[in-house]
Amino acid sequence: MSDYTTIVGLEVHVQLATASKLFCGCSTKFGAEPNTQTCPVCIGLPGTLPVMNRNAFQLALKTAVALNCEIPAYTKWDRKQYYYPDLPKNYQISQYDLPMSQHGYLDIGDPKGAFEPKRVRILRAHLEEDAGKSLHDEVAGKGDSLIDLNRTGTPLLEIVSEPDMRSPLEAKAFLTELKLLLTYIGVSDCNMQEGSLRVDANVNLHIDTAEGKVATPIIEIKNMNSFRAVERALEYEVGRQWCEWQETHRKLGDAPKQTRGWDDVAGVTRGQRSKEESSDYRYFPDPDLAPVTVGPQDAAAIRESLGELPAALRGRLESDFGLSAYDADVLVNQGSPVVTYFLDVAKFTGDPKAAANWVTQDVLRTLKESEHTIESLPVASSALAELIRKVKAGEVPSSRAREVFQTMVEKRVDVAAAMQSLGIAAVDEGELIALCQKLLAANPKTISDVRAGKLQAVGALIGQAKKQNPNVDPTRFRELCLELIEKAP
Ligand code: ZN
Ligand code: MN
Repeated sequence: MSDYTTIVGLEVHVQLATASKLFCGCSTKFGAEPNTQTCPVCIGLPGTLPVMNRNAFQLALKTAVALNCEIPAYTKWDRKQYYYPDLPKNYQISQYDLPMSQHGYLDIGDPKGAFEPKRVRILRAHLEEDAGKSLHDEVAGKGDSLIDLNRTGTPLLEIVSEPDMRSPLEAKAFLTELKLLLTYIGVSDCNMQEGSLRVDANVNLHIDTAEGKVATPIIEIKNMNSFRAVERALEYEVGRQWCEWQETHRKLGDAPKQTRGWDDVAGVTRGQRSKEESSDYRYFPDPDLAPVTVGPQDAAAIRESLGELPAALRGRLESDFGLSAYDADVLVNQGSPVVTYFLDVAKFTGDPKAAANWVTQDVLRTLKESEHTIESLPVASSALAELIRKVKAGEVPSSRAREVFQTMVEKRVDVAAAMQSLGIAAVDEGELIALCQKLLAANPKTISDVRAGKLQAVGALIGQAKKQNPNVDPTRFRELCLELIEKAP
């Protein structure tokens, strides 16, 4: 009987949110007509000279600092030799032996405890330029191939993790946390459909055998365009490697690394080519670009400017506001505008738990089911706080609070107007007591049931009370009934 461990490492290419390309002034805006955002530099005409985009370097530094990386004082540019139609220079400007950052980490966890929290080490993060795009068979039956060089030279940050993940789920959690971090610090829009975030996954198995540990060949999976696809591709590949090993039982340790592509529709990976070794690329320092120096004060200034990162924010929501890990996670995953909205509601009401319940339930459901963003939601944080206050004061029956909220959203009105349009008027305490006494007198069995310990017997009375007056607050009514029963002779 053998057992195995899944070993996963990820390589993520993130497009940095700059207005122009990495080494020329061409626009990076997505969706333009093919080849309209090009110039002699990015199409690689001889005699042109690249000039580094400072902003791209700043965004890369910001990311590296947020990923807890070491920032070397000196970094340089290298040429990675390729011959591909979508890279007319025949080399990609990248970073090889002296990347702009290395040896960082990202902590991941699962709010539902599906795996133990862990630290995934970041091997390196370096800057490089993107290639263009080949388009095949655009005109049906013509068998043509076209090139769009708009994307050529767009700044990418390549983030390489150590093989520290032990399951497809952990890999997905890493990507989710990374995307959240990048979004919080505003370095990328992370739009996977537009190619702003691309993932390659390396996976193999360490198998325990009677003769010791055997490692299956490392497979690099490409062509995955969602985190769910990454998870599925890894699950498939783990199964495939395990079956292959069981069938062959051969010593696989020396087999070369292989690249496989993910077919999302068929749900399988397919072999592509054997993986290039870095020596195949014949890297050498780019003589056209000056090295970049980064002082310790630069990194410190960036650290200052980062603001609160998702992990710290989650921690603060739990420790300062008493939220559950799950609620804190839900809120932080929505992005900082939703967190700010929650913080405002919590501040205005002084009741963070009620604020969290409303925001994670009704507010998020409304955002999901409507075209609204948190910024365009007709119910401002102060208006939701007002509703929560009125519910606590018994002016809005808790059973009708959701209706009031929906009316505020749909009619774009404040709490008072929503209450009026729903015919909600506060039931005064005297009225409520009278109603309670009347119903208790008519239902002596309820009294004996409650005294016998069956508190839920009160429920029948709540139903009757609401029939007589829909504004009755069930929570308050229940309290009153139990009080009266206790006091009764
Ligand atoms: Zn250009
Ligand atoms: Mn790369």
